[in-house]
Amino acid sequence: MEENGTAAKKENISRKDFLSLTGKTVAAGAAGSIALGGLLPNELWAQSTTRAMSPPADIPPGTEDPIVLEEWKSAVDQQSGPTPTPLPPGMRIRYAVVGLGHLALEEIIPALGSCKKSKLTALVSGSPEKMKKVAAQYGIKAENCYSYQTYDQLKNNREVDVIYIVLPNSLHKEYVIRGAKAGKHILCEKPMAVSSKECEEMIEACEAAKVKLMIAYRIQYQPHNRKLRELVQQKTFGVPKFIEASNSQSSANPAHWRHKKALAGGGALPDIGLYCLNTNRFILGEEPTEVFAYSYSTPGNPLFTEVEELISWQMRFPSGVIANCSSDYNVHESRHYRVLCEKGWLNMDKAYAYKGQKLMTAKAEGKMEKQEEIGLAENDQFAAEMDHFSDCILNNKRPFTPGEEGLQDHIVMEAIYQSAREGKPVKLTHNLKSTMRGPEPKTE
Ligand code: NAD
Repeated sequence: MEENGTAAKKENISRKDFLSLTGKTVAAGAAGSIALGGLLPNELWAQSTTRAMSPPADIPPGTEDPIVLEEWKSAVDQQSGPTPTPLPPGMRIRYAVVGLGHLALEEIIPALGSCKKSKLTALVSGSPEKMKKVAAQYGIKAENCYSYQTYDQLKNNREVDVIYIVLPNSLHKEYVIRGAKAGKHILCEKPMAVSSKECEEMIEACEAAKVKLMIAYRIQYQPHNRKLRELVQQKTFGVPKFIEASNSQSSANPAHWRHKKALAGGGALPDIGLYCLNTNRFILGEEPTEVFAYSYSTPGNPLFTEVEELISWQMRFPSGVIANCSSDYNVHESRHYRVLCEKGWLNMDKAYAYKGQKLMTAKAEGKMEKQEEIGLAENDQFAAEMDHFSDCILNNKRPFTPGEEGLQDHIVMEAIYQSAREGKPVKLTHNLKSTMRGPEPKTE
């Protein structure tokens, strides 16, 4: 597949070329951007293109090198990483957030404020009053605020590179496809859609429009989960054999879209069970070849007339690992997994939470067992995920969690539902290769 940035370079003059054509040297600093004809460098670049495609990388030399400060703490006490290497605001990738619900307002939009390569420039909402308030809070211009009806006009907005879809699941497909047709790169919340067929259409639409598509699997950008994956894949605790995983919580409002099949696509499985499925695939680096599932909903409970309350399933992987997963919408919150290996185990509490991950390990040492907590600095998972996507756009790379990653989860979820319906195992033959992923995200 030709990457869109390559195409962008063929179609459009690059920002660097444009700046050299102007015959002026431009230092794009945070506060000190030099305006050319009253415009900032990225605005000049944007005006030089016929489509609102994202700029190719033009990062000032040295910007990405951390500033080294004098050491005074021992290595183990350094809870922060190296000094951050933010891009100057004028160089950052610009996001429009679509749907101003819980996730957008409580996590994504605040996280954009702590991003190093991304920033918020536009909003899309069905509620003008709410959008006005949010726009005022985050300094978004009135002309960069859109309704669902005027959404397609983002095509003409040169101040937007990425559209981030944060809508109910069944709306993802429509807004991804319309966004791709507007020439914008797309970041889409999980679950990617409500069926594998929809995922295929979304991937095709983004390929046809030559824009990048990434699914927002924040756990794959979270340090504790990434460390556990490294330890499992390096077989630090011996060969992994069995994984036990659960992501469960309670639910209260039967009128919410999450309890409507047409909007959610399913119940606990696509919403939260998906984390067990996706994280298993991520840490093992393998695709399941067979699943077997049970599902249950309490009769008469209005929360579960359309979608399942509980889903429990097993997955067999080619290496022989069996994963035993569950997800429930009607129990006290519990989000963990444990990987049992020949010589020890790794346990992650709060595994899929926004923060508070706790990674414990146990290893057999002679006649003793050594238990250890692996302490790591936390990050903002949403900021890390968005900065990864921005980095892919700036450097024309494929995302680490592209559309195919979302498609693969839907293929497995469909097999899980089929197995629960039929009461027998379902084999999976349509498995994607790991080569579908782009390079590992940079970690700071
Ligand atoms: P929410 O209900 O809080 O927000 C949804 C937004 O969509 C609201 O602003 C609502 O007004 C708007 N909307 C537009 N059309 C709608 C319609 N027809 N029906 C209902 N709402 C409509 O939901 P949320 O929790 O913000 O979830 C949004 C998306 O984000 C979902 O796909 C969800 O799975 C995903 N999500 C991801 C994470 C994560 O950790 N990555 C966490 C929560 C939610």
